[in-house]
Amino acid sequence: MIQYILTDIEGTTTSVNFVYEVLFPYFSTHFKDFVARHAELEALKAQIRATQETVQTEQNRAINENEAIEQLLAWTLEDRKHPALKILQGLVWQEGYQAGSLKGHIYTDVPPVLAQWKEAGKALGIYSSGSVQAQKLLFASSDFGDLTPLFSHYFDTAVGNKREVASYQNIQQAIGLPADQILFLSDIEQELDAARSAGFQTLQLVRDKTVPSQKHATAPNFAVCAEIAQSL
Ligand SMILES: [Mg+2]
Repeated sequence: MIQYILTDIEGTTTSVNFVYEVLFPYFSTHFKDFVARHAELEALKAQIRATQETVQTEQNRAINENEAIEQLLAWTLEDRKHPALKILQGLVWQEGYQAGSLKGHIYTDVPPVLAQWKEAGKALGIYSSGSVQAQKLLFASSDFGDLTPLFSHYFDTAVGNKREVASYQNIQQAIGLPADQILFLSDIEQELDAARSAGFQTLQLVRDKTVPSQKHATAPNFAVCAEIAQSL
């Protein structure tokens, strides 16, 4: 029986468009203003230095602070998963969420089912390539209010890449339940494959333009997920 539901965010609880059409543009629009207002912030300076070091290593080129800022904006457009960019995005988004300019998108079918699972005694967790900080911001200031009390764990790529079996083994150790009692929800087949190889149960959310998997059970929304999860 399923005791724990681990869910992806983008394409699963949340529209992929929210990230690409709301969050990334928000960062691109507000980053320079953020830098101007927080020039002395140590967290900012450290990420600028990390960006300079990466460019030095990869391109053998020394860049100044302004060039580092332009590099970070270019990486945003490339959706590069650089730790410095992730930390800075988190800081800029935090201001946006706190100001009420950003609200985390959650599909309407998600909150009632999460609440139902929680009431039934299941534990819930998140595994997303977005940083744990960004995950908490999204769920704390969501379209449906603060959903963070529902979750007992947040995992990001600190446990490993989402397409690698070892990541799910690390998560299983952190959760402390047998792998076959954990259900992983995602829109991406390769992530589900890796989770299954670690012994997890799997279920693919097929929303928007997601291509249905032939290898995993599929569901169009969380209500159907809940029905399928009962039979696992
Ligand atoms: Mg996804």
